[in-house]
Formats: sequence, C-alpha cells, structure tokens
Amino acid sequence: MSRALVTSTPTPDDERRLIDSLPTGLFIGGEWRAASDGGTFDVLDPSTGLVLASIASATQADGAAALDAAADAQRAWGRTAPRERAEILRRAFEAVTERADDFALLMTLEMGKPLAEARGEVVYGAEFLRWFSEETARIAGRFAMAPDGNSRLLVMKRPVGPSLFITPWNFPLAMATRKIAPAIAAGCTMVLKPAALTPLTALLFTQVLTEAGLPAGVLNVIQTTKAGAVTGPLIQDPRLRKLSFTGSTEVGRRLIADAAHQVLRVSMELGGNAPLLVFDDADLDRAVDGAMLAKMRNGGEACTAANRILVQQGIAAEFSRRLTERMAAHTVARGTDPSSKTGPLVDEGTRDKVHELVTSAVEAGATLALGGRAVPGAGYFYEPTVLTDVPAGARILNEEIFGPVAPIVTFTTEEQGIQLANATEYGLVAYAFTRDLNRGLRLAEELEVGMFGLNTGIVSNPAAPFGGVKQSGTGREGGIEGIEEYLETRYVGIADPYAP
Ligand code: NAP
Repeated sequence: MSRALVTSTPTPDDERRLIDSLPTGLFIGGEWRAASDGGTFDVLDPSTGLVLASIASATQADGAAALDAAADAQRAWGRTAPRERAEILRRAFEAVTERADDFALLMTLEMGKPLAEARGEVVYGAEFLRWFSEETARIAGRFAMAPDGNSRLLVMKRPVGPSLFITPWNFPLAMATRKIAPAIAAGCTMVLKPAALTPLTALLFTQVLTEAGLPAGVLNVIQTTKAGAVTGPLIQDPRLRKLSFTGSTEVGRRLIADAAHQVLRVSMELGGNAPLLVFDDADLDRAVDGAMLAKMRNGGEACTAANRILVQQGIAAEFSRRLTERMAAHTVARGTDPSSKTGPLVDEGTRDKVHELVTSAVEAGATLALGGRAVPGAGYFYEPTVLTDVPAGARILNEEIFGPVAPIVTFTTEEQGIQLANATEYGLVAYAFTRDLNRGLRLAEELEVGMFGLNTGIVSNPAAPFGGVKQSGTGREGGIEGIEEYLETRYVGIADPYAP
C-alpha cells in the first residue's frame, strides 16, 4: 500500500507533491486510460481560482466502456465470498485512515473546506468502509414453512447488479464511500461519475481501493464535463440495474424521469432546507453551539445545513445576539491556514447565488446583522452573515443557501414553529433545541423529515440511515438500511418435501 505523502501541517511543496502523485485518467476495467477523444479538463483551487490539475474528461464511448466493464465483472463479483469483499473494504478503511492527511489536504485543495473539517470528513467517509465491511457477512435471507404446511418459502438476497453513482462536490470522499461501500458489500459492480468540480479525491480513493484488492471492472470511474451526455445512455441501457444520485433536487427529478424508461431502481439523496428550532426552554449555550455546527459545517455547503433558524419569541433577541457574536468570530481563510474556520465557496456561481439570496432578503425587509458581502481578492470567499427578522415568503427561506448565511425567523407557539418548519417541499433533516422531552418527541413525530436532531446540530453517522422525505429524495444510505439499497429480494417457492 502506498504511504501517506503529506503531514498534518502541509507546505506548498506537499500540495504539489500530492497533486503530482495522482492518477489523471479514467479508470475502466482495472486500467487508467486517457479519454477516447484525448479530452481533458481543469480542476481549480477555489481559494485562488488557479488550476490544480488537468485530468481526462470521459466521452459517451468511455461511459459505454465503463458499463461494459461493470457488466462483464458482475457475475464473478456477485459470487465472491462475503469475507473476501469485507476484507477489501477493511483494507481500504485502514489505507484511507493511514492516508488521512493526504485525503484531507486534497479535499481542502479542490473543494475549499478547512483542513480540520476535511479531516472530519475522512473519518466520516472511511467509517462507511468499516461499517459495511462489518455488514457484509450479515447479508441473510429466511426460510419458512408456508402457513398451510404444504410448501417451503426461501427468501434470498441477491446483489442488484451494475450500478451508476453520480455524486456532488460538497463531500468528495464521503458521498462516494456512502455508495461504494454498501455496493461492494452487496456484491454489485459500479460506474462512478464524480462531480466535475472535485474529482481528484475520487481518483485517489480509486487508487487506494485498487491497492486494497478490488478486482478489475468492479469500480469504474468516468469523471467528465458532459455529465448528462455521458450518463444519459447508461441510464437507458438495460444492463444497468440501479442509479444512486446525490445532488440537487432539480437534477434528481430529471434523472428519476429518465430512469423510468428501464424502471430502474433509484436512490435519490437530494436537496434540503433544514429548519433549526430553538424553544424558549432550550439550553441556550447548547442551542448556539448546535446552530453554529448545523449552519457552518462545511461552510454552509451541506444538504443538512440549517437553512432556516426558527427561534421562539422569548429568547429570540438573546439567541440572535449570541449567534451573531459567534459568527463574527469565525475566521474566513484558505482551508490550509490553521486559523481557518470557513474556506471559500466552491466557485463563483455559488458565491453569486449566496449574495443574491442575501440581497433579496434585505430587499424583502430582513435586517442585516452581520456580513453580507463577498470578501475582496482572489478566491470565492463570503463573509459569515446573519439576517434577523426575515419575513415569511423571502426567497432565502425557500431555497438552499449553500453558504455561511444564517437567516433568523421568530415564532410564538410550538404549533406555529412546526408549521413554519414543515412549510417547504424539502424534508431531509430538522433540528430542535428544547429541555422538554415530551416536546422533543412530539416534534420527532410532527416534523416532515427523514432525520431529526434533538438538542444536536449534527445527525450524520455511518451507522444510521441517512435520507429524506418529500422532495429531498428516496432511499437511505448508511445503517443496516444502507445495504438494502443494493440487494434484491428473491423468493423461491419449494414443494412440500414430504409430499408423496
Ligand atoms: P448537482 O448540480 O445536482 O450535481 C450533482 C451531480 O450530478 C454532479 O456530479 C453533476 O455533474 C451531476 N449532474 C448534473 N447534471 C446532470 C445531468 N443532467 N445528468 C447526470 N448528472 C448530472 O448538485 P451539486 O451542486 O453538485 O451539489 C449540491 C446539491 O447536492 C445540493 O442540492 C445538496 O443539497 C445536494 N446534496 C444532497 C445530499 C444528500 O445526501 N441528500 C448530500 C450532499 C449534497 P457536474 O459536476 O458535471 O455538474
């Protein structure tokens, strides 16, 4: 296995050495290769706007070759011993952990998040490998006598088959391992199309998985700048059996429609518009800590980010004051700077969209308590921003912000808080802070979400089912539920063994 290249306090030389060590090709049938038309694209550092690396850009022909390789490898791979698949995952877990500093630096360079957060993602992303390595040997069915005693029922679990994964840029490692690990555990082969903004982490991870013993053809990687043109024909190909997508609701909706042609199994991890409720009886220190975590983790560029901070009237002024103070102390700097608490946004378009939402909220009557401007100079930095008294109907309450902006809305009763929280087409996650356990349980039942954080600003955990309801998607990743997404249930009816 290759050893870690950089240390926890990387220098510019470390950055170059790491980038230079990466594969730059597509990974198809166990080989790194150039795009069929020789095409490449640049990956940029969002803290400078400068080119980090130039890598192959897959064509439709490359996409077809990747699916050929996955389809060819499926039968043999699906028959491997569970332990064999488990041990590949376990070795990959060890290798990613050993190379944590390399993965962290790479994510900081291509995506922008501070190194400390990138290290957190390495731990989170690697844990899917360990969790599903442990789940591999527990895939089981059942056997029963039919109620009338006249036959036997055998229920088997089979790998779904070749799967296409399309992932976003905000968690370059974890969004890949959350799909790849359960698919390996279940015995599925794969084609991965990582986000064009952050494909380098996927390339390093592919190298690590190969070194961990993943056979040729099981994972094929086709980064490209032509996402729709390259993946579209794969979704129409009858050999593909599963599409798992993490990204925006807008693209997910289109992919579900495309997948209908082959009645393809889909998992959709889509957008969010998380409410974070703070009640009068909350432990205020804990609520402010939780709001900071839920809002500022990943620079606000998370589907689970608190998008609407709903505070009960009695503590609204004090909560807003404390949150504003904490946001003001949040250092904005390149992710490699040890003082950085928030890095740049991923690109100019994302920063422009954040600013547009802030501007339109102020025009609608919100008060700008902090920030509200792009940071001048190189890179796509944006000031931590707090908006108070945001009026109902403001765009910022209905669209994903994906930036370091906290809009605060005041409510009066629990009933009104629940109504505001549910007033969105999204349903990924909600958070609430209260000391009243009964209220906590009522919220757990009333909020229309796939996940709920009670007195905590973070819920993601590889041992728990991650996913949303309403337009936040369908399917679950992680937990004992996560492997089911890659298994088919097959029933075998068996004649009565005692029949004459
Ligand atoms: P996005 O624009 O939907 O892109 C996601 C992925 O889809 C990228 O790989 C993208 O490729 C690809 N894509 C875009 N158009 C496509 C098409 N027509 N056909 C096939 N693939 C296509 O989302 P994003 O901006 O990368 O990520 C942010 C979104 O992801 C947010 O909405 C966030 O809430 C959501 N998200 C959800 C979860 C969850 O678990 N629920 C987790 C993380 C993020 P390119 O890179 O080439 O555009």
